[in-house]
Amino acid sequence: MPRNGSRSPSGRSEGLPPGEAGRFRAALLQRFDRTRRPLPWRTARTPYRILVSEFMLQQTRAETVAPYYARWIRRFPSWDALAAASPDDVMREWQGLGYYARARNLHRTAQIVRKRFGGRLPADPRLLVELPGVGEYTAAAVASIAHERPVAAVDGNVRRVVARLLDMADPPASRVRRAAEQMLDPERPGDFNEAMMELGATVCLPRRPLCEACPVAAFCRSRAAGTPARRPGARRSRRLREAVFASAVFVDGRGRTLLARRPSKGLLAGLWEFPGSELPASEAGRGSEAPGPESPGLVEEVARRRLADFGLAAGACQRLEPVKHAFSHFRATYHPVIVMEQPGSAAPKRLPAGARMVPARPSGFRRLAVSAAQRRIAELLQRRLLAEPESRPLDGGALP
Ligand code: SF4
Repeated sequence: MPRNGSRSPSGRSEGLPPGEAGRFRAALLQRFDRTRRPLPWRTARTPYRILVSEFMLQQTRAETVAPYYARWIRRFPSWDALAAASPDDVMREWQGLGYYARARNLHRTAQIVRKRFGGRLPADPRLLVELPGVGEYTAAAVASIAHERPVAAVDGNVRRVVARLLDMADPPASRVRRAAEQMLDPERPGDFNEAMMELGATVCLPRRPLCEACPVAAFCRSRAAGTPARRPGARRSRRLREAVFASAVFVDGRGRTLLARRPSKGLLAGLWEFPGSELPASEAGRGSEAPGPESPGLVEEVARRRLADFGLAAGACQRLEPVKHAFSHFRATYHPVIVMEQPGSAAPKRLPAGARMVPARPSGFRRLAVSAAQRRIAELLQRRLLAEPESRPLDGGALP
């Protein structure tokens, strides 16, 4: 692990000069000790709690994570409690936080830690990266914060801070890592990593770095060069695919609605949803002449076809507002349509496996894990049923 002004194969210095590195650490940690944010995972620190917080913080801001973390720790206070939980319980506690693969991986990790490591999280980053969902960054963060291992944790915030401190335009990950390792405080690696992340999250901001308030401004080469706004160079933003879905919100005469469970692998695996279908590109209106989801009857037709898969007879339809949701690799727009049960139709004796009728009121969803977009559709349904008496179940059944 290169330290104290070591040089790259090209002979260039990887980080701050040796004399400066010590003063840099002192300035950074002094400020961190005085101003660190009182985040819930910074009290009662255990390897379990630190790993849970690091999983939740992947792709998600600390302010968003805080209430989910507190609820999770109440529900699953230990490796044992999490390892013994059912997948449904785990997904339900995670719902709303997104990126559900993290919850599944955390659950599997708890089972492995209990079974293979006797309930003790390994300290070696090389063992940590073998756990499900633990990448190089998470392994380094956990090894340093939970076990004081001297390894630098480089996330997006730290990459930006390092690139600016050293005035690097578009540094490869390996160079940032070597520089971060060289700057790391070997006495307090966990605090150092957290201080770097905190600096990136609160002071060295992506668009407008607050250089006047920065505790390490004296060491910053991009500040001296007047280049912070251009460091690091902008990454090419990916153009995300747009996906359009029709969602069938079936309501029967007893005020119940149909939910179906997603497959156990892939996107939103195992979560419950209003059954739907993605509209092919032509039907999604992306071709110049193509009919779009606003075309009369198109979404309704797709929803009816989907309900026929469950043996349900569709009656009157009523559109709800579209719901948008951004996934990591595509943007989705759901076009939900309430489909009332066909009056006088015979309900199927049994629904296919993985389908369930639940009360269309909030209590019907409480015990099932659904994604944020599907929860939004459920809220729209409940609001519409309450606001518009004509949408109520046709036989006068109880209002949801
Ligand atoms: S001086 Fe400005 S650009 Fe440099 S590390 Fe501090 S906030 Fe970031």
